[in-house]
Amino acid sequence: MGTVITPLLLALWIASGWWWAVCSITPQATLFVIGGQFHIYWTEPRSIRDRAFETGDVAGDTPEFNWWFDSYVTRFTMGPGGVRTQREVDIPIWFIVLLIGGTTAWMWWREHQRTRPGKCPNCQYPIGTSAVCSECGHRL
Ligand SMILES: [Zn+2]
Repeated sequence: MGTVITPLLLALWIASGWWWAVCSITPQATLFVIGGQFHIYWTEPRSIRDRAFETGDVAGDTPEFNWWFDSYVTRFTMGPGGVRTQREVDIPIWFIVLLIGGTTAWMWWREHQRTRPGKCPNCQYPIGTSAVCSECGHRL
């Protein structure tokens, strides 16, 4: 699964330097993909947006590309609804790419190690076709 998601996220990360996408994920939360980040808004009591999906390009403006985590809380008054509290979290996409890509690579490596023929899956000692490892006693 990671082998599919990792290149997709990588493409999304690169694309987010030129394009943005926004989507309401719950009635309170909105997800932005912009400037190399997942930018999540969490508004209470509820969001201004309503489960819409939009995209656009940031051409014209100099895209602000962010590399690190960030979070902030904003309070603002709006309409008759009164005070809203908006929490924002920025998660750099490269971090998720690294996390999923790294986990996938590690799992692949582990699988590769395990299925290596003629070696004990436990200690890597060469055991040929033997059913029991002569080094650590591991049964195949
Ligand atoms: Zn062994």
